[in-house]
Amino acid sequence: MRPVIIAANWKMNTTPADAGELARTIAGRTREADVVRVICPPSVCLAAVRDAVVGEGIGVGAQNVHHELAGAYTGEVSAPMLAGLATWVILGHSERRRDAGETDALIGRKLGRAVEAGLRPILCVGELLDEREAGRAVDVVRAQLAGALAGHDPDTLRAAGLVIAYEPVWAIGTGRTASGADASAMADAIRAALRDAGWGSAADDVPVLYGGSATSGNIAEFLAEPAIDGALVGGASLKPDEMAGMVGRAAITAAARRAADA
Ligand code: PEP
Repeated sequence: MRPVIIAANWKMNTTPADAGELARTIAGRTREADVVRVICPPSVCLAAVRDAVVGEGIGVGAQNVHHELAGAYTGEVSAPMLAGLATWVILGHSERRRDAGETDALIGRKLGRAVEAGLRPILCVGELLDEREAGRAVDVVRAQLAGALAGHDPDTLRAAGLVIAYEPVWAIGTGRTASGADASAMADAIRAALRDAGWGSAADDVPVLYGGSATSGNIAEFLAEPAIDGALVGGASLKPDEMAGMVGRAAITAAARRAADA
């Protein structure tokens, strides 16, 4: 049975002075059983969020790691530096692909560093609008997966709890979303790509999240799809009401899965 996960990507929002309070408020309003909750604040807010959610069962994640362990990389944060601060990490977010020029090969190196450091990776993939309109969405996502996962042992990644977030770039921060059916079809394509890459039936155990303007108002469409295991949420994750609504809906899916599994 795959978990149901709601992961908050706070992007470049909050400060160490206010992140803890926001995390505490969200924690207090999302205590439903069986939903995996993760908050990924800016790196300078990790300690505040970690301290705010002690005992709440919420995972804390970074939004990126460097592909080297240490050295002359001004302004960067390496995976070992996150020890004690984070247990999850977002990798390959489209904003980093766009703004920092991250390639699939580089993301693959980051993935290795994350796993070595014991961080649970959320690997983001997703197509641009023109790629979808040209009917190339699946090919693009397959290529992103192939590039990032090349050379990685499926068993190691599976043991690390690899999560894939399907985030169509045209849906991120735009108020536009994929349809549940399209997201589900992409989740199937992602697992098929993993199977083709040697994962075998282990591909079916990999959680696939949807990301792109998810809110409490539209999350049900995605969580109604058996292939979708939750959401990676940007803008709405900064609002406690929204988080409460999304986690509340996710708890319904989690309970249904548990009942079906019993
Ligand atoms: C994201 O940052 O991963 C994201 C999906 O953002 P938003 O929910 O704001 O579209």
